[in-house]
Amino acid sequence: MGQVWRSGEYDQGMATLYLSGGGLGRSAHAWPEALQWLAAQPGTLLLASIASDDDRQARTLQQLLANVGREATLISHLPQDSAEPTTLFLCGGDATRLLGQPERVRELRSALTAPNLTIVADSASAMALGRRAASCTCGGHAIRVTSGIGALGSWSVLAHAIGGNDERLADLADAALPNGGPRLALPVGAAVEVLGLGSRTSGEPGGLDFRSTSWSQASAHRSDAR
Ligand SMILES: [Zn+2]
Repeated sequence: MGQVWRSGEYDQGMATLYLSGGGLGRSAHAWPEALQWLAAQPGTLLLASIASDDDRQARTLQQLLANVGREATLISHLPQDSAEPTTLFLCGGDATRLLGQPERVRELRSALTAPNLTIVADSASAMALGRRAASCTCGGHAIRVTSGIGALGSWSVLAHAIGGNDERLADLADAALPNGGPRLALPVGAAVEVLGLGSRTSGEPGGLDFRSTSWSQASAHRSDAR
């Protein structure tokens, strides 16, 4: 079971965190709202391929951003602190691969506590942050599930979700939680902001919550029956 964040551990400032369901970096037409939003972010823009050795998504996104006049830098180590506003885009891949790399997990945990940092965790990177984490989900294929980072309280995330009834949501159930625990289905083109990151009651009513973004093309589906 992944470590669950405890009360007060991260009360001193947190990053702003967005989760996206996949689709960014495919082409300029795939998700123009997200591309424009990323390009308009203040400060430095960083792209990191932390869940895959294949950095094609990062390079494609870098080129798409360059085409609209926005510089973005590919990095291999995540910023741990930031004096100026910085946006960090975490590319997709395979969440189990990311979770098998302790140093990357450590860097990611640390980045989540950096107050000037805005993090967009896409696809596998979003799933790795949950309580239970699926491997790669592109194309709707079957998944492998492992313990996630647990940064979202009791929540687990399914990216590339085929609506709110995606059968793979059942695979993400945690037997230790009532009804398998809350799960968030993010279709391609769906993005949410995480509210209450690091809060004591994460995953419970009044604790961590999700809000759709202005640049989201699709709806997220939550399984906590709210
Ligand atoms: Zn896949």
